[in-house]
Amino acid sequence: MQIFAIHPFDPPGDVPALRARVRALIAGHEAGWPLEGRSNNWFTFDAAFSRVLGREGLLGMTWPKRYGGHERHPLERYVVMEELLAGGAPVGLHWIADRQTGPLLLRYGTENQRRKYLPGMAAGEIYACIGLSEPNAGSDLASVRTSARKTPEGWRVNGQKVWTSGAHRSHAALTLLRTEEGSQRNAGLSQLMIDLDTPGVTVRPIVDMTGTHHFNEIFFDDALIPLDALVGTEGEGWKQVTAELALERSGPERYLSSHALLVALIDAVGPDPAPAIAQLIGRLTAEMWTLRQMSMSTAAKLAAGDDPMVEAAIVKDLGNAFEQAMPRLVQAALDADLAANSDLSRLLTWVLLASPSFSLRGGTPEVLRGIIAKGLGLR
Ligand SMILES: Cc1cc2nc3c(=O)[nH]c(=O)nc-3n(C[C@H](O)[C@H](O)[C@H](O)COP(=O)(O)OP(=O)(O)OC[C@H]3O[C@@H](n4cnc5c(N)ncnc54)[C@H](O)[C@@H]3O)c2cc1C
Repeated sequence: MQIFAIHPFDPPGDVPALRARVRALIAGHEAGWPLEGRSNNWFTFDAAFSRVLGREGLLGMTWPKRYGGHERHPLERYVVMEELLAGGAPVGLHWIADRQTGPLLLRYGTENQRRKYLPGMAAGEIYACIGLSEPNAGSDLASVRTSARKTPEGWRVNGQKVWTSGAHRSHAALTLLRTEEGSQRNAGLSQLMIDLDTPGVTVRPIVDMTGTHHFNEIFFDDALIPLDALVGTEGEGWKQVTAELALERSGPERYLSSHALLVALIDAVGPDPAPAIAQLIGRLTAEMWTLRQMSMSTAAKLAAGDDPMVEAAIVKDLGNAFEQAMPRLVQAALDADLAANSDLSRLLTWVLLASPSFSLRGGTPEVLRGIIAKGLGLR
């Protein structure tokens, strides 16, 4: 059995020129970006830069032109995402809309929904968030209890979502709800695209260990949501969410969250590092390069129309282990002189505090390993 099928990563067009364009954009805008935000940067925000990317045609890259997209190849998009992540650009505001909500609306949404949201998303001006997790439904998503009852006036939504990244800055949440009363597990679920300024919808902050307000709780108190907010087919929410998770797990963000720290370390130690540091940089670079090849291969499989569920789970699990281990290894290797280097130590402190979350978001290691085992026919 082939455990990890390698697909050739072969984007069309002039890839070096595309990379150079993104690097030049970053160089032209990075002056005001805080050092800490250069790591884990698909969770940091800069509305002006999101708009710049929209104007430059670097959002909604693969979407049809009639919805504001640019009809580029998915692997060209991958190249742009990789450059933005490795370059420390704050891309969190538009990340979810561009990565998964927009593509889901293209696949399952109505014409009205596409016209309402996609052009603004491709312009970097409309942001979306993911309404999946609930207080008792995280890994076990089929336990979702937040309900939507169909009435002649609209959907009456009641319940609570939690850990919703960026909800306080988003316009809408693609939300998984139980639409069939009394249904169990993954039956009777549907997705609604809920505008977050609707009366009865309240977004409350959760402050994380770094002191950042990044994620939220969303409460629904008898909120009346228009009937045409239903995305796709009533009762097919589980199937749609599974497609969404494949998009969520397969990108380069799953191993690059600590990348700024590696760059800062290399900058700090200069061309002639101590042997132990040189060895660490070599080890981290080799691991990163291997993960990069695996991630590109997974993206190529997805772009070819195949389902890389197992490969994506492998890259995410190994990638999260890598990006979590890096700050601990750097911390252990630093001597007093390096620890006194304020930029490096500030970034290290930040990544140490942020890194426990890397392996929770988008599926925990246990869940991913369950998927891998199932894919390999072991359970
Ligand atoms: C930074 C961050 C951003 C997030 N953003 C979003 C977002 O935007 N939208 C959203 O909907 N959610 C979001 N989440 C939530 C995330 O998807 C959940 O935290 C995750 O799915 C785990 O769910 P849980 O927290 O309920 O933990 P639980 O499911 O309670 O798991 C607790 C522990 O038990 C283990 N476990 C659970 N089930 C099993 C099993 N069957 N076998 C073995 N072990 C098991 C888990 O691996 C974990 O270690 C975010 C989380 C983080 C950390």
